[in-house]
Amino acid sequence: MRLLHGKALAEKLHERSRERSKALHARGSAPRLAAVSVGIDPAANTYLQRLIGRGKNLDVAVDDVALSGEVSERQLITALERLGADARIHGILLLTPLPGELDEGHVVDHILPAKDVEGMNPFNVGLLADGRPQFVPSTAEAIVELLKFHGVVLRGARATVIGRSTVVGRPAAYLLLKEDATVTIAHSQTEDVRAVTKDATIVVVAVGRAGFMKGDMLAAGATVIDAGINVTPKGIVGDVDVESVSKVAAALSPVPGGVGAVTTELLLRNVLTAVERQRSD
Ligand code: NAP
Repeated sequence: MRLLHGKALAEKLHERSRERSKALHARGSAPRLAAVSVGIDPAANTYLQRLIGRGKNLDVAVDDVALSGEVSERQLITALERLGADARIHGILLLTPLPGELDEGHVVDHILPAKDVEGMNPFNVGLLADGRPQFVPSTAEAIVELLKFHGVVLRGARATVIGRSTVVGRPAAYLLLKEDATVTIAHSQTEDVRAVTKDATIVVVAVGRAGFMKGDMLAAGATVIDAGINVTPKGIVGDVDVESVSKVAAALSPVPGGVGAVTTELLLRNVLTAVERQRSD
């Protein structure tokens, strides 16, 4: 079985972003992302630290806008609107999940679409659904970029995505559809998940449960993208039971070192795209 590593793609994206960032600085723009977090979430913080580090390498500033876990929905919305109006900020990332009573679906309405580098605002969600993506959730984009980078043919492929969250499953399905795959989305209410994975040449797993995808759910020779990130006593693992899947699949993205490695680079790439779009020249 072939492993679909993300590192080489991540490095390639990083190099390209370095050139774009340099060109923007030469033209007087200093790319800046505001990463807004509410309360303390260890997983989100790990992601943020990685973003800050990779951003630094690219000369893309990442502001850590850390709000208290006690913040009201109105205060959070005001903070997002202020960032939207601040000309020094080119991109806004809201780290999720939000704690407590905060309604994520309502809050994301207040991320300015032109700065919505993670594609959370319904305007950007709608453009993606319409087949005209502008800003797309970076994990979903990483799934499709990883497949393309490794030469997996998407046109006409039977692709099943397990998971329908707004951040991973749903946008990944739309992107695969845009690449002319025939797409099925499975979720917790799907009567027989195995029936729709057995029929697929490409399976994307975004469930959030270690060991969820077993080899007997797959057709021989399938390509599997594991988007899961699960913290276990053995360390970070994906949603795939590697032992059984490796006996059936032709290719599998590893965790860690697959989708996750690419995600950060795509988010930073979106910040550079936002700067370029916001310039008037
Ligand atoms: P989520 O919001 O919890 O969504 C999980 C999805 O899995 C839901 O659509 C759910 O169905 C479905 N599901 C749950 N149990 C199922 C079952 N038994 N059979 C079929 N479908 C089932 O999680 P998420 O935010 O999409 O994240 C998914 C995974 O990706 C997590 O491990 C997360 O850590 C990881 N992730 C990775 C990255 C990265 O950069 N690699 C970024 C973000 C997230 P319902 O809709 O019916 O509930």
